[in-house]
Amino acid sequence: MNFDTPIEKIKFEQFDFFVKRDDMIDEFFSGNKARKLHWFLTNDIKNINKIVSYGSSQSNLLYSLSKLAQNRNWKFDFYVDHIAKQIKLEPKGNYKGALEFKANIIEDINFPKEKYVAKKQELFIQEGGRDKRAQFGIKILSQELKNWIDKNGLKYNQTKIMLPSGTGTTALYLQKYLKDIEVLTCCCVGDENYLLKQFSMLEKDNKTYPTILPRAKKYHFGKLYKEFFEIYNKLLQETKIEFELLYDPIGWITILQYKKENPNTNIIYIHQGGLKGNETMIDRYVRYIKNRKTSFVL
Ligand SMILES: *Cc1c(COP(=O)(O)O)cnc(C)c1O
Repeated sequence: MNFDTPIEKIKFEQFDFFVKRDDMIDEFFSGNKARKLHWFLTNDIKNINKIVSYGSSQSNLLYSLSKLAQNRNWKFDFYVDHIAKQIKLEPKGNYKGALEFKANIIEDINFPKEKYVAKKQELFIQEGGRDKRAQFGIKILSQELKNWIDKNGLKYNQTKIMLPSGTGTTALYLQKYLKDIEVLTCCCVGDENYLLKQFSMLEKDNKTYPTILPRAKKYHFGKLYKEFFEIYNKLLQETKIEFELLYDPIGWITILQYKKENPNTNIIYIHQGGLKGNETMIDRYVRYIKNRKTSFVL
């Protein structure tokens, strides 16, 4: 695994950005999931024989945890509310990958989720990897960013770090360790109040919270939007970098607007990894285009 990923200069829509290539960390662990699981990947964990977690049947965390469990020779139970019929018939993406690594994916709407009490020898990980131990890997990420900023002589007050948030764990801890460099983020799963609540579950002191940028529009998590697939394709075309399709489109729409308003600010966008999930998302977009007879310029 290579955590010290490069930072590349790209041009997108006539603007310069820097991209931290966290999609390149590893084949099985990428982006913020690799960072959040860094502690579990490298520390000697005793008296555990099973991981228990929960979330969506297509989540990037499911895939990463299944590989972690396999590496350690642990069992892995992952609880989901629902698995789509089509996915059961024809497994794809993160779901398929997790099954290959012997994950036990259990449909149970009564699983207590964040209130679950881990049994003896169980390692319980909250949805999205919202865990205090995530700090270990995110602190290392903050040091990599700081070293690069110093080496390239960028001024702290003219340089901002951008990443989109789900649980906000990555953005929150990144701001905690970067201190005098501002971290910008946007909500992808719920609204601003949801994200602030997520922050408060990990950190009471709101002085160290990252800045939540306003979204142009309200988006429902997991739904398909024409502009998401458009910006995904545009990024691929103009930068030759593939981004993921759930969080990164909102991240890029938001930061592009910010850059237009603040053209002299250096932006380092952190790639969120998770490209395995694109397999199913691209399928869904292709069907969406067919059904709506919408034409995309690809
Ligand atoms: C999990 C995930 C996120 C959200 O990360 P948080 O730390 O929960 O905010 C964003 N992008 C991708 C691709 C993810 O897999």
